[in-house]
Amino acid sequence: MKGMKYWLYLAAKLVVAAGAMCILQAELVRFYPPPPPPLARFGPAPPLFIHDMLFTFLTLGVWLIGAALFYAIIWDQRRRCRVCLRRLIMPVASGSWGNMVVFGRPRTQWICPYGHGTLSIEELQITGRQAPDWQPHDDDIWKELESYYQPRE
Ligand SMILES: [Zn+2]
Repeated sequence: MKGMKYWLYLAAKLVVAAGAMCILQAELVRFYPPPPPPLARFGPAPPLFIHDMLFTFLTLGVWLIGAALFYAIIWDQRRRCRVCLRRLIMPVASGSWGNMVVFGRPRTQWICPYGHGTLSIEELQITGRQAPDWQPHDDDIWKELESYYQPRE
């Protein structure tokens, strides 16, 4: 099924990242020095999170790394071909604020090196985050390239 590989790749990256974060958190718990024993007299030791300042900060650090990783994965995913997963190339800015009616809103277009499609990303996100617009090319790559390089007059 076309496009399936694209989502499987995203899912695989997310699973790997989630696994890495779990390992990181587990290592933090494993290597973090245990609380001093006297606390044991007052019943079971409270959880380190919240009760231990350094541990809490380190845990938040792990979450920050996870968030950054997640962002990087999404960023990377947006700039890949929906068909073959290769990084899209040749960003071309089009549109113009001055001539919005004629040329459309400013946007950047990226193409797959194998001609599978064109991705348009709006320059300015006015109504929240607009999903990038992916347009698959038909099989005739040369016809597409021809229209792509038409002079804009
Ligand atoms: Zn492609």
